[in-house]
Amino acid sequence: MAARNLLPIVIALCLGAVSAGKHDIYSGYTTHKVSLRDRSDQDILHDLELKLDLDVWQHGFPGDVDSIVMVSPQNKDEFLNQLDKNEIPHSVDIEDIPKEFEEFDAKMDLWRRSRQRKVFENYPRHGEVNDYLESIAEAYPDLVTLVDAGLSFENRTIKYVKISTTNFTDNSKPIYFLDATIHAREWVTTPVALFSIYRLVENLRDEDRDLREDIDWIVLPVVNPDGFEYTHTNTRLWRRTRSYYPQVSTTCYGVDANRNFDVSFNTLGVSSNPCSDTYPSHAAFSEPETRIVRDIMLEYVDRIQIYLNIHSHGYYILYGYGNLTLPANSAQLYHVGATMGAKIDSLKLPEAGFYRVGNSGMVLYSTSGSAQDYGQAVGIPFSYTLELPGYGRGFQVPPEYIDQINFETWEGIAVSARLSRLYYNDRKKNV
Ligand SMILES: [Zn+2]
Repeated sequence: MAARNLLPIVIALCLGAVSAGKHDIYSGYTTHKVSLRDRSDQDILHDLELKLDLDVWQHGFPGDVDSIVMVSPQNKDEFLNQLDKNEIPHSVDIEDIPKEFEEFDAKMDLWRRSRQRKVFENYPRHGEVNDYLESIAEAYPDLVTLVDAGLSFENRTIKYVKISTTNFTDNSKPIYFLDATIHAREWVTTPVALFSIYRLVENLRDEDRDLREDIDWIVLPVVNPDGFEYTHTNTRLWRRTRSYYPQVSTTCYGVDANRNFDVSFNTLGVSSNPCSDTYPSHAAFSEPETRIVRDIMLEYVDRIQIYLNIHSHGYYILYGYGNLTLPANSAQLYHVGATMGAKIDSLKLPEAGFYRVGNSGMVLYSTSGSAQDYGQAVGIPFSYTLELPGYGRGFQVPPEYIDQINFETWEGIAVSARLSRLYYNDRKKNV
């Protein structure tokens, strides 16, 4: 056979090899369920997380929710030995991560091809998200304003929408600001943000009319588009941004955007290793992506009544501060957060867990530089981290659960919007 006739075969083989090996970076990695018995187990696991560079997919809650932890082949023995030494129960969760991810890719392929789906019934790419925002703004010019907020480190346009029946001019209305995918791999968060837009704009139900009339909304569906795209094209479990600072590291890219805000920056729950998933960066607000969130907060701080920073996964509604101190309105923060959690719990599937609500440092562990804490510190009365359900599949939430997560979370957002608005009326009276 002539060499030129071999070319298509060689190309086909190469393509096959590339796609078959997409997740080979995780060869030998395993995930483990760790059953925490008490707070001390939680602390031991958190120490191991930093020491053995564990990737905690789901933060457990003692006596109730298992932690799900990924460990490298190099650190696996040490990790399991430490758990055994401390008599912490554990079991293998995923034995072959590349295989699991390849199966998920095949499933998503089928999901996409099986029928036409709306953008929030799927895991859209960044371009599809921006297309949706543009189409909504074009179709509803009196209701939706599209804002080009700026560029990511790799020059992707970060867009958000403002939804208002009064063009954001009525100061008697509070603003609800929600954002998603600050952590690149948390794919299921963006559909929730998009579904909120859908409910408020395209699919307004009678029972939601007050939410559109009485509240203004800012929805930023992808905070970290560079990392997000990288999870699609290269490394599925990428969490950070994709910035590059050769003066700090020539081998590791990005920082943990949710440790990059200027609030107790670089003090608690962070790693000084530029390759770590909790590396906060060399300076607060080094990232264009976090500066965009900051600028939205500061521009509208007098009117933003509630900020919801959406993550996946773990069934948590958390508030500040990450250093274990409480804001003055902590009773109100608990009230609104618990009402949201209880609403979602009332609609959950039997196989889903129950939401836990509380101070992020007390419920989970200490942190610094988070979006949640920054929002609270600059004067947003109700600033939350929301950790959505994972249904036991890590960041690969099976697509058949997307509708349920969208639906139940929207109902939770709706009650938190109404309740925080009541507090807004008091806030305005006291000015
Ligand atoms: Zn996250």
